[in-house]
Amino acid sequence: MDCLFCKIASKEIPSDIVYENDEAIAFRDLNPQAPTHVLVIPKKHVDSISKTGEGDNLQALMAAAVEVAKLEGLEHTGFRLVINDGQHGGQTVFHLHVHVLGGRVMTWPPG
Ligand code: AMP
Ligand code: ZN
Repeated sequence: MDCLFCKIASKEIPSDIVYENDEAIAFRDLNPQAPTHVLVIPKKHVDSISKTGEGDNLQALMAAAVEVAKLEGLEHTGFRLVINDGQHGGQTVFHLHVHVLGGRVMTWPPG
């Protein structure tokens, strides 16, 4: 399968990796939208959050995202986790990923 994030997970394509465990890998977004902008992905390919099923460990993915936020020093200031799904959600890369955003005050509502 020709998937950019699978290639990042297998290290075929280089990235700035900040965290990794058996289930997930986290790397800095190429086009950061905040002082901290890290993407956390499951190593096992799934297109999007809406395509996940029993074999997908979402608990591990979210726990990895929180771990990344702590490693980035965001535990006390707070941070934002974002998962975009499909066209209306603004998803552009079809390998599930959690955005970890922090280091500034986030606004609401999102665009
Ligand atoms: P989304 O719009 O939720 O699908 O997010 C995709 C994200 O992937 C965007 O924030 C991009 O900046 C980011 N991105 C695309 N290619 C790369 C790459 N090679 N390395 C790191 N981040 C990337
Ligand atoms: Zn993939």
